[in-house]
Amino acid sequence: MSQTAMSETYDFLFKFLVIGNAGTGKSCLLHQFIEKKFKDDSNHTIGVEFGSKIINVGGKYVKLQIWDTAGQERFRSVTRSYYRGAAGALLVYDITSRETYNALTNWLTDARMLASQSIVIILCGNKRDLDAEREVTFLEASRFAQENELMFLETSALTGENVEEAFVQCARKILNKIESGELDPERMGSGIQYGDAALRQLRSPRRAQAPSAQECGC
Ligand code: GDP
Ligand code: MG
Repeated sequence: MSQTAMSETYDFLFKFLVIGNAGTGKSCLLHQFIEKKFKDDSNHTIGVEFGSKIINVGGKYVKLQIWDTAGQERFRSVTRSYYRGAAGALLVYDITSRETYNALTNWLTDARMLASQSIVIILCGNKRDLDAEREVTFLEASRFAQENELMFLETSALTGENVEEAFVQCARKILNKIESGELDPERMGSGIQYGDAALRQLRSPRRAQAPSAQECGC
């Protein structure tokens, strides 16, 4: 039986990555998205490495399979295999740390080189709850995003602000690209798979019968 032959029903599965310097809040963003709460312990070694969640994007069910660097970024050794076949990525910096913002160019170069050519990236300026300690303005980062063809949001893994939105916006852009034909889910390494729901629709585009009342077994 294949791995996707589960009871869950979804139209597409997208592989997502979370990248950016250590300490920017990547693991907390993933945790907030999956669990809807702030991961209130700063244990870096036992990070979340992987999470998945089904979201509804404009009536389509999309399963996001999200990979966290699990600390690899501390050693500047985020591997080629980590990037392989990702459909989308959250590129994270910390609005209170210019150093993490300055590192974005390097992260982008790696992502564009090592991930799928058509990877959709959303830039996330995290820790927006710490506005008093801000070192990077919204305007500056939005210009950078525009120049580099990235979507952009400021997020807070602490309050949850814009966390779900970041994942949903990225997924929506990928869906739009599939619908416009710009992205082919069947291409190797696209980071996209059809789910059970989509396959069922492909096999029987028009259901012959409306579901009828089941016969009572009693
Ligand atoms: P990672 O190394 O990128 O995975 O970062 P972590 O998720 O481990 O977070 C690094 C530190 O930043 C931890 O101490 C978190 O508690 C803190 N942190 C993460 N996100 C936020 C946020 O949105 N706001 C605030 N104030 N702190 C955060
Ligand atoms: Mg982490």
